[in-house]
Amino acid sequence: MATLKEQLWDPIAGFGVTFRTMFKKTVTYQYPFEKRPTAPRFHGRHQLNRWPDGLEKCIGCELCAWACPADAIYVEGASNTADERFSPGERYGRVYQINYLRCILCGLCIEACPTRALTMTNEYELADDNRADLIYEKQDLLAPLLPGMEQPPHPMLLGDDETDYYRGAFKAQPGAAGNESGDAR
Ligand code: SF4
Ligand code: SF4
Repeated sequence: MATLKEQLWDPIAGFGVTFRTMFKKTVTYQYPFEKRPTAPRFHGRHQLNRWPDGLEKCIGCELCAWACPADAIYVEGASNTADERFSPGERYGRVYQINYLRCILCGLCIEACPTRALTMTNEYELADDNRADLIYEKQDLLAPLLPGMEQPPHPMLLGDDETDYYRGAFKAQPGAAGNESGDAR
């Protein structure tokens, strides 16, 4: 049995919220024609980053896939060869997929990545009219080639030796140094 307060006061209190809101200025954003910038650390679509010579940072270790609570990442690693090098190390990610039907954009995968190959951009428009297009393949996730980068496979291009390469003690091409745009970590 409802008390007198619940019968009389609670409906009035509920409408009080409505009345207060009626006199506030309305805010309407004309999305998608007007897009508001996100917070700088917003977790959006992922990006697979490159070294400044264009080689891929992903080494195909699958740590991101194991860290993912939604089982949204699928990775298959493969070995680089002298003739066909995609990353500076022994291994690279031959197959890399993120299923955006599953992904909850939590960012645990980018925390797990040991090479900072995987970061997240601020891109949030991840909707489509079919399921297949929401499974992003490696070519959809790879960072674009900036000036001075070459499309892999190719040998390591920078520095005198591997130590120079990994320490960044090389002469990067203008505009090529670092491409971790929208890094949400
Ligand atoms: S952001 Fe979270 S849910 Fe999405 S792929 Fe990474 S770990 Fe999985
Ligand atoms: S993105 Fe990072 S964690 Fe995932 S497979 Fe590549 S190197 Fe490993």
